[in-house]
Amino acid sequence: MISRTIKDFDHWRNEARRLIADSVAPHDVQLHQDDGQQLLFGDIEQGDAHPSQATPKQTFSVTQAFLSLAQAVSYHRHPKRWDLLYRVLWRITNDHPRLLEISTDDDVMRLNQMEKQVRRDAHKMKAFVRFRRIMSDQNEQFIAWHRPDHRIVRKVAPFFSRRFKGMNWAIFTPDESVVWDQKTLTYGKGVPRRKTPQFDELEELWKTYYRSIFNPARVKVKMMKSEMPVRYWDTMPESELIAELLLEAPRRVDAMIEQHEGFGKTALDFFHIDHAADLTLESLKHQASRCQACDLYKDATATVFGVGPADAKIVILGEQPGDQEDIAGQPFVGPAGQLLDQALKDAGLSRSDLYLTNIVKHFNFTHTVIDGQQRRLHKKPGAREVRCCRPWFDAEWSLLTDAQVLVCLGATAAKAIIDPGFKISRQRGEPVATDYCKRTIATWHPSAILRSATVDDQRKKREQLTYDLRVAANGI
Ligand code: URA
Ligand code: SF4
Repeated sequence: MISRTIKDFDHWRNEARRLIADSVAPHDVQLHQDDGQQLLFGDIEQGDAHPSQATPKQTFSVTQAFLSLAQAVSYHRHPKRWDLLYRVLWRITNDHPRLLEISTDDDVMRLNQMEKQVRRDAHKMKAFVRFRRIMSDQNEQFIAWHRPDHRIVRKVAPFFSRRFKGMNWAIFTPDESVVWDQKTLTYGKGVPRRKTPQFDELEELWKTYYRSIFNPARVKVKMMKSEMPVRYWDTMPESELIAELLLEAPRRVDAMIEQHEGFGKTALDFFHIDHAADLTLESLKHQASRCQACDLYKDATATVFGVGPADAKIVILGEQPGDQEDIAGQPFVGPAGQLLDQALKDAGLSRSDLYLTNIVKHFNFTHTVIDGQQRRLHKKPGAREVRCCRPWFDAEWSLLTDAQVLVCLGATAAKAIIDPGFKISRQRGEPVATDYCKRTIATWHPSAILRSATVDDQRKKREQLTYDLRVAANGI
């Protein structure tokens, strides 16, 4: 028995075409809905997708009537719909080219019935969705909650985009959400709730999302800055900035839902700009100094923001400030910083040319007593803190105009930036391309070097750090 998970209608068509070409009979295959992946598909669609236009070369052809019917049925919630569609396709291509005309056929009857249910459900959604108006950062927004019987968000969203073309709106359903920014429909995760969320919660969800739009999204702001002198920024309508940043929206919609569901606040909640021109490293630093997105601010002394010139070519990203950094309010000034300084020097780099920062901006520690003295012992930040704090780094990164190499010190930064499964011991030193930087290099964290078990080990790691920093320097 062959088993396939199907993400959406286009995916089904491709799989079905292959299965037919391989003469796989319907009773030899099972097609399941892939819920997890569904949202990664067709992030941005505009207007009704007419399947015929997207049909690549195929070795057999089916009628437009079948494709339209199949697409409608694909929105049905029935778990066996992909199997049913494949069986009908098989029968059409193998022995009944005019099967759809036999309305008494069991399969055809079932398809027609499902199509009707989807059509009725779509009709209901068009008629019953009620938008609530909210004001968010002085902009008018409209949000709605709806629980359709079937998975029809993508079928119906184009209708709403035509009808409410000049409004910013979002519709949340348990399966999927969709946001319209007057230009593009963007799909994201559903709001996974049994009960209907309260309006206040929806509003909160939306505001979180809307605010996140103001996050200077990675490369975008940098690109805008290079194309548009900063002095023009305050005259630029904010809506244009929003439109730019919305290009990043698919990821944001998902992040918004996750954030709302389980993670509470992030740094984005403490990030506000009224004018694009206000976006500078200085203003960010100021905002970050008031961040209370996670609990780390409570016991720490200060937010330790990045230091260095905005046009630095090499950016060094550590984990979090240590005891001395927390007191000084500056990154890499303690023992680890001293080791780093030496390695930089050995690699022919000058600290003042670099931008140095951490993925988490507050010192995370536990108290302990050593030799009768109270000491603050470094504690690794968890996924939650990294997630909460990361928007500060994203914002810093977007304002670094000339960054050509990003060096991640240690596993925490490397996992956040390169890959959650990253292993320094196995993968260090090799430049890789990431969302952030074409040349991203991870290497030993100086604190890890200081903790080496043996002198030999320490020497080896030190050399490797210096070597990797030299590789970074060679890339500029
Ligand atoms: N370790 C880090 O990762 N960052 C600092 O700023 C200091 C120590
Ligand atoms: Fe904010 Fe980061 Fe500090 Fe948490 S660690 S309070 S997210 S600045």
